[in-house]
Amino acid sequence: MPPFYIETYGCQMNERDSEALACLLEQRGYTETSSEENADVLIFNTCSVRDQAERKAIGKVGFMKKYKQRRPGLVIGIIGCMAQNHGAELLRELPVLDFVAGTDQLHRVPDIVDDIRAGAGRTVADQLDRVIRPELDAHRQGNVCAQVAVMRGCDQFCSYCIVPHTRGREKSRPIPAIVAEVQRLVDGGTREILLLGQNITAYGVAEARRDGRYRPDSFSEFADLLRALNDIDGLARIRFTSPHVHFMNDPFVQAIAELPKVCKCFHIPLQSGSDRILKLMRRSYTRDEYLDRIDAIRSRIPDVNFTTDVIVGFPTESEDDFQQTRDLMNAVVFDMAYIFRYSPRQGTKSAADLPDDVPEETKHLRNQLLLADLENGAAARNARFRDTIQEVLVEGVSKRNPQRWTGRTTLNKVVNFLPQPDTRPGDLLPLRITRTTANSLFGEIVVG
Ligand code: SF4
Repeated sequence: MPPFYIETYGCQMNERDSEALACLLEQRGYTETSSEENADVLIFNTCSVRDQAERKAIGKVGFMKKYKQRRPGLVIGIIGCMAQNHGAELLRELPVLDFVAGTDQLHRVPDIVDDIRAGAGRTVADQLDRVIRPELDAHRQGNVCAQVAVMRGCDQFCSYCIVPHTRGREKSRPIPAIVAEVQRLVDGGTREILLLGQNITAYGVAEARRDGRYRPDSFSEFADLLRALNDIDGLARIRFTSPHVHFMNDPFVQAIAELPKVCKCFHIPLQSGSDRILKLMRRSYTRDEYLDRIDAIRSRIPDVNFTTDVIVGFPTESEDDFQQTRDLMNAVVFDMAYIFRYSPRQGTKSAADLPDDVPEETKHLRNQLLLADLENGAAARNARFRDTIQEVLVEGVSKRNPQRWTGRTTLNKVVNFLPQPDTRPGDLLPLRITRTTANSLFGEIVVG
């Protein structure tokens, strides 16, 4: 049973891929280990979204030379976006590396590892496919919350983003295959699923465009998928990430409003509040269209939380552009935001065509201002839950305090509480919220 170790960088899709690959390697007779020192197979699942993430992964792989010198039979591979982005170049730059497998070649990794251990030479597999391999629906059993990839790739080609180049064009899995995967998860104890797709509201759009079924105002196969999943007995909650405003039409909004298992907490990337910058980003919506979709959701769902992604310091972003972003964010009142300082990625349109002309200090300052705005309201936003009863999906023992357990509300708020002797992960419990901070809620189980 040779031990393997997978280190994952970047997004939730990478986490999901690492889980599926771990299952495939276990089916092949390998055993997962929690330490790189003991592994016979070391795999780095990498991210190309930021230059810094790439440099970190390259540094780490180079550092693995010390293990290879001690154990020449050690197999080291890079998978994920960086593997797709740089392919054979990585083998040339990193002599310690045995294989590179791109984003659509994950299913081949067990064969590649077996072959290398049997004496085959170093290899690169970086072809992009049109299909999603059924092998990749493998999961670890028994997780209360599980991730399910429903589509891969992206056709949007936002000007700053490397994803369409590293993950290829959009391809969606059929609804019955996803329902079957979720049913298996539920049978194994899963209560909540997080559906993953780089552009998830465009689920099924590429296929519908190909056979002439796509109508922007009425087509939402993602709504159909949510309905099918909502019908699964034993499944308690459905979350998804990340939607794109351009595809959030009324049938989609109607579905998320009316389906009880869809959690009313939505991560909707904004990126900028300036129409001029949105156009340069090729985001295919305006600030008014973004606000219109927020209003459409709020008018149907009274208690709803929004989170978002924003880029500050995009090429040519002026004080006025930034102020428009800040105003829009304060108008929407986001519960949380991931704020990124723009950095050009080689191979993208913005890196090729636009100057990275906003000084680093200005990017930093804008980042800090947005974070301060968010933090200012955080304690008050959480305080509204004090003395309410919230339904909490129990996840298990708190990582910070082993006396306490944690769970999440449907609005994705972490609640800390003391368990009863019969409390189990996966329970849905009513908790009275007794105390709140800017980051957490504290509660007690309501008995009887
Ligand atoms: S929608 Fe834009 S930012 Fe998101 S993955 Fe696609 S190209 Fe990248």
